[in-house]
Amino acid sequence: MAGYRRFSVMLGSPGAGKDTQLELLEAHTSAQILYIGQTIRRAAETNTKIVQYLESGGLVPQEIITQLYQLKLQEYESTDWLISDGFPRSLEQAEWLNSILAQSFTKISDVVLLEVSKQQAIQRLQTRARHDDTNTIVAHRFETFYEQTGPVIDYYESVGLLKRVSGEGSVEQVHGRLCEALGVNQ
Ligand code: AMP
Repeated sequence: MAGYRRFSVMLGSPGAGKDTQLELLEAHTSAQILYIGQTIRRAAETNTKIVQYLESGGLVPQEIITQLYQLKLQEYESTDWLISDGFPRSLEQAEWLNSILAQSFTKISDVVLLEVSKQQAIQRLQTRARHDDTNTIVAHRFETFYEQTGPVIDYYESVGLLKRVSGEGSVEQVHGRLCEALGVNQ
């Protein structure tokens, strides 16, 4: 696997606005985004085993997710700056990512946590119409975020990689903060 000049990770609760912000970032900078959520939803169209996890709001098991992620990484091999959206979401995934990146002498450059209140996040989720945005699934996705991704956030904070960015306010305001945190021009 070829190395990346810059490898970033984007974390945030469901409804934090990650996708919107990453699309903007991709349009305005040299960053390319690896959207693992989209990959999983596409894989679920032909793999019924995956559907049950999506429909529960829990994490897809390690063997499946790492296989999908690794295939995706190969697609982005010649990318200068890659941002990983929604991966890693558990400590097990974070460890796996470190080891896979180490094979190409790549280290994570920065991890951004897009923060919004739960109330705001739920409001945002209500305005879109994704299949897994029902109340029960959303509730479990939040639980999964706090329980499994919480320790990932603590870990990246402890190694000094975490940048907290407020996701409250308008899309443009958040974009401005994100650019500042990542050190890129708007
Ligand atoms: P997202 O589009 O990022 O909200 O993800 C939608 C769903 O995909 C989640 O509720 C999980 O079931 C699954 N998923 C996304 N990212 C991961 C991950 N890193 N590990 C396991 N499952 C994931």
